[in-house]
Amino acid sequence: MAKSLGLSPAQHEILAEAEFNLTALSEQELLAIAEGDIDLDRVDDDQLIELLNVANLLYRGGELLISDELYDFTYLAELKRRIPDHPFLHTVEPEPYPGAKTVELPVRMLSTEKAYNFNAIERWAKRIEKAAGECGVDFAGLIFRATPKLDGFAAYDDGKTLYTRGDGRRGTDITRVFERGLQVAKAGARGLGAGEVVVSRSYFQAHLAPFFDNSRNFQASLIKEKELEPHAVEAIKSGHAVFFPFALLPCWEGEWSLLAADFDGVVDRLWQAMDFDVDGIVLDIDDERIRQYMGATRHHHRWQIAFKKNTETAEVKVLRVIAQTSRSGRVNPVAEVEPTRLSGALIQRATAHHYNMVREKGIGPGAVIRLSRSGEVIPKIEEVLVPVVPELPEECPSCGSPLVWENDYLLCIDTLKCPAQITNGIEHFFKVLGNVDGFGQSSIRKIFAGGIRSLPEIYALAEEQLVDLGFGPKQAENMVAQLQRSRMEPIEDWRFLAAFGNYRMGMGNCEKLLSVFPLERVFLLTKEEIVAIRGFSDKTADEMLAGLRATADLFTAVYGLGFNLIATPLETDQAISGNGPLAGKLIVFTGTMRQGSREDMKKQAKALGAKVGDAITGKTDLLVCGEKVGAAKLNKARGLGVRIVSEEDYVQQLLESGAGQ
Ligand SMILES: [Zn+2]
Repeated sequence: MAKSLGLSPAQHEILAEAEFNLTALSEQELLAIAEGDIDLDRVDDDQLIELLNVANLLYRGGELLISDELYDFTYLAELKRRIPDHPFLHTVEPEPYPGAKTVELPVRMLSTEKAYNFNAIERWAKRIEKAAGECGVDFAGLIFRATPKLDGFAAYDDGKTLYTRGDGRRGTDITRVFERGLQVAKAGARGLGAGEVVVSRSYFQAHLAPFFDNSRNFQASLIKEKELEPHAVEAIKSGHAVFFPFALLPCWEGEWSLLAADFDGVVDRLWQAMDFDVDGIVLDIDDERIRQYMGATRHHHRWQIAFKKNTETAEVKVLRVIAQTSRSGRVNPVAEVEPTRLSGALIQRATAHHYNMVREKGIGPGAVIRLSRSGEVIPKIEEVLVPVVPELPEECPSCGSPLVWENDYLLCIDTLKCPAQITNGIEHFFKVLGNVDGFGQSSIRKIFAGGIRSLPEIYALAEEQLVDLGFGPKQAENMVAQLQRSRMEPIEDWRFLAAFGNYRMGMGNCEKLLSVFPLERVFLLTKEEIVAIRGFSDKTADEMLAGLRATADLFTAVYGLGFNLIATPLETDQAISGNGPLAGKLIVFTGTMRQGSREDMKKQAKALGAKVGDAITGKTDLLVCGEKVGAAKLNKARGLGVRIVSEEDYVQQLLESGAGQ
């Protein structure tokens, strides 16, 4: 644990080995945050990420900076709230020891999506239900599996080599732990895939606790030490330190209705079932059809989720409620509360969902509320124990416009002039871009105060202008360099599109959209084209189109500045309703077919998820030509940019994809 005087020599050594230097935080600040002495509101994004990086390195090195709970529920959850798709949330562990050999993993090891409360698990189950419906699997009978997640050193065993997970694609060869005598748990065989190097809890307490601060510290030593210590040799020999493949872990299996009815019970029993440290419960679906259908994001499998629990709550008194206008114009209530410790951190603020909650639950000065840290919004108001008569704002705190109710929300509708909406939108842009330093809230407000109101204006700023706006010469120079860098550095096109902050166009949806249509087409899309993409409803499409219309000019102007965009690979086949090579394609068959009747070919194409049309239009993906096709038809298809293939090529492609049998 953190020592208030400074990092320990062992901690310094780990950071030095990793060539990690503190830049955003001083050592004192780092420790103060780690001990929960600084309100998270006063920690900026760079500092938060630096803290997480340090905590992660020290965790892997076995010299903990902060407790797992503080790490997961406070800092990691805070990052998830602030920057939901920050790369850090998807990085898997750094390498176990410097100079270790990096090798390609035999399979891609994704991280696991995390849920901090049952609501998030329910939302996940809803997605499973939807997928089951779409691929004709009976959801009620579908088997869910829950498995404890051991808190050890993650590794993958292909039978010959043991790999660390590394970045998910490349890990480190740590086979030497097997050469040192490590056994597979339950006398299992080698080659069972993913698992954890762990030591049993009771053995650690009885034999190792005097020599190691915690089991993490010991597990790391098994892998990183050049020579094993006698305690480690003994732990391995006695079979208490093992490699535990997930496949051999105990699990609960059953239908969703059973799991939902006794979720806490299932979780608690699995948590207690083993004599090992557990840091979560992994839920997944064992049905291959569902797994295939749902697939994975670039970070995690959609059919799997890890539940992390935290039950700590606190009762506090509200001092006052402050209104804050977001970039969308929604005015959010933030309750200032009496400073309180929760999960090891100092809390001074809490969020209510919206002003309707403030109105209905009676949240205001003097109210007593119960807080919990459950990951997504931190901390959130769980319950109002003593209500008061609430005060509701009538004007936007930023621009003074009268507020209107929209469902549960108070809304500032002066979108084009409201400083909060504009500056928050600009801040969001840089945050999502993720490659620019120096454009946080305070800088953007300063720039705005100087009359600069838009992204193109910001990108056109020269050093002298920034100095005139009140920045130091060095800072101004750095800011201009950062802006330049943000245009030079390669960046995914979906991230760029998401940076414009349109409603319903977060990074996930943008990536989905751009895996079907190239960026140049996004602003020309029709509702039908969006709805054809799996997972986009009519309503979503309408909302996306409204947002796209509203930002089209800004997008064109910023895009025109020249960014180094990486195009998302087009995966039309997978992305559109189904999995096969024809899924979601609009196909027209024409001419006399030789290998079978045209009707049979149409049926087969439909069975493979394609839509079959009669006339060639701009939406046709593929024209399949048999014999005697008229020139007019071919010319029309060419003119519309429709792909034209012969019957032979079409059949050949189906056979090659395995779909034709
Ligand atoms: Zn306003």
